[in-house]
Amino acid sequence: MRTGENGFRKDEKLFLGKRKFFLKVERVLHHSFLEWFPLFEKTFFFLKKFSLELERVLHLFFYDYFSLGSLGHDEHVEVIPANRIKRFGNNVKFGITCTEVNGQLVCFKAHDRSHPKSAEIYAELDRLSNELKEYGHEYESSWITRPLKYDETIESVLCGHSEKLAIAFNFIQNPRPTFIQITKNLRVCGECHRATKLIAKIRQCEIIVRDANRIQHFYKNGLCSCQDHF
Ligand SMILES: [Zn+2]
Ligand SMILES: [Zn+2]
Repeated sequence: MRTGENGFRKDEKLFLGKRKFFLKVERVLHHSFLEWFPLFEKTFFFLKKFSLELERVLHLFFYDYFSLGSLGHDEHVEVIPANRIKRFGNNVKFGITCTEVNGQLVCFKAHDRSHPKSAEIYAELDRLSNELKEYGHEYESSWITRPLKYDETIESVLCGHSEKLAIAFNFIQNPRPTFIQITKNLRVCGECHRATKLIAKIRQCEIIVRDANRIQHFYKNGLCSCQDHF
């Protein structure tokens, strides 16, 4: 086998030459990555922020669109963009209901008293509950899955469900709404379904409830688009 002047074989020299070349390329790429990474990072966060804003604008657009007389076409309601509650809801185990009133997005969990207007919300819930009972609504304990605490009643537990808080909030922010939209991360319970049908009828207000399962449209005549198959 032939060897060169400095003791390396020809193929060894070739190998060392290639290795030097690749080390140089690697250094250049590494340098470029360090230099360009902050820019990529900024672009990524900008695009992320932009997509969230776009989603918000689209949500408001569809919200307004459906508020302006397009109700009754449930297949169209399906195109409402997935809003923030769904994403937020994926990370939590408890029920959360969100609603957007006058451009303000508010979320409630069951028996939530954290909102500054909490006293008004619960006063409105009392009024709603009295109206429901006047129309023959009965609160059934079968929808309660835990023992009652000493200061609770069947009515107080069921009225504290997050979807009812969100509906009550709509009525205090806008006393005569013709359209309410709420979104829950879990499935709506049968009690809230029954109560919401009656609330839509008593208050003559269309209510759209999007939950983990489907979108339901509660009409002013007291019926729901799911025809009670939910
Ligand atoms: Zn419920
Ligand atoms: Zn329904």
